[in-house]
Amino acid sequence: MTICLGIESTAHTFGVSIVNDKGKILSNLNKTYTTEKGGMIPHEVALHHKKIADNLVEEALNYAKIKKEKLDFITFSQGPGLPPSLRIGKDKAKQLASNLQIPLIGSNHICAHLEIGKLLTKAKDPVFVFVSGANTQIIAYESERYRIFGETLDVGMGNALDKFGRDIGLGFPAGPKIEELAKKGNYIELPYIVKGMDLSFSGIVTKANQLFKKGVSKEDLCYSMQETCFSMVTEVTERALAHCNKKEVLLIGGVAANKRFCEMLNKMCEQRKAKFYSAPLRHCGDHAAMIAWQGMLQYKSNKNFEDVSEIDILPKWRIDEVEVTWIK
Ligand code: AMP
Ligand code: MG
Repeated sequence: MTICLGIESTAHTFGVSIVNDKGKILSNLNKTYTTEKGGMIPHEVALHHKKIADNLVEEALNYAKIKKEKLDFITFSQGPGLPPSLRIGKDKAKQLASNLQIPLIGSNHICAHLEIGKLLTKAKDPVFVFVSGANTQIIAYESERYRIFGETLDVGMGNALDKFGRDIGLGFPAGPKIEELAKKGNYIELPYIVKGMDLSFSGIVTKANQLFKKGVSKEDLCYSMQETCFSMVTEVTERALAHCNKKEVLLIGGVAANKRFCEMLNKMCEQRKAKFYSAPLRHCGDHAAMIAWQGMLQYKSNKNFEDVSEIDILPKWRIDEVEVTWIK
């Protein structure tokens, strides 16, 4: 049995997880930096991570009932992410790998979101709809890489919903409140912006704000924001599905919590005879088990390990630059 320890630290969450090669999660402990004001200063987040790193590693080992010496390798999120956060995870991972004299594997954080989604839903080769606060990307595996078929040209859809929510006084995060209010709304026209396969959300937020100031109700705006943004993503997903000739769609990221969004994607899939999956919510956010599992896939498929001292963070690492060794 192969066992690894994985560390997540791309942004506000620092986590440590132990998984085995059967995909069993033996421990998955995550702590998220929060503030009263809701802002995030990268340097303070890094301090938070540094303070808890040693203890969390011990706790994760204890919880899994695994002795350090039983670990086969260490893996960590190498990017993309905030450099001060990434460095804390990398330093801790390097220290563990050097002390134990075992391999160190850097994992791509976005790739890890996709692969844990596949592990948990049993989807095999889906078109991924990755919609979180900061990200909106339609991704699929083609010609030996994960390719980005469409993405936002400005903000992520979650951030767009949150920005609109803040403007009309819904607080943060606004997504769930928008979903509630939308149930009582009617449709009014908002800009629908799809350029080729790419998406843009900031103009919709600006327009919705203007209409709010003119007296259009929150309910109508929430409903129309949802219908517009979700249709745009569904349209691009449908074209990616047709282009790649795939038969599955897997929704991941925090916005996957939205029932109306799932319903829309599901309907499109039914019409195309494709299967729709949505990752379990507690695994949609950032956590360490996804990194550990991603590392496991890499370890099993490629034994050319980099020299521990050579490994560094990759803050701008795009998923289409990842060498995919684990899909045959
Ligand atoms: P993540 O970045 O993956 O942690 O996802 C967080 C984002 O998901 C935030 O922008 C939230 O507003 C959004 N979100 C969470 N629940 C919902 C929901 N029910 N409907 C729409 N967006 C949501
Ligand atoms: Mg993430």
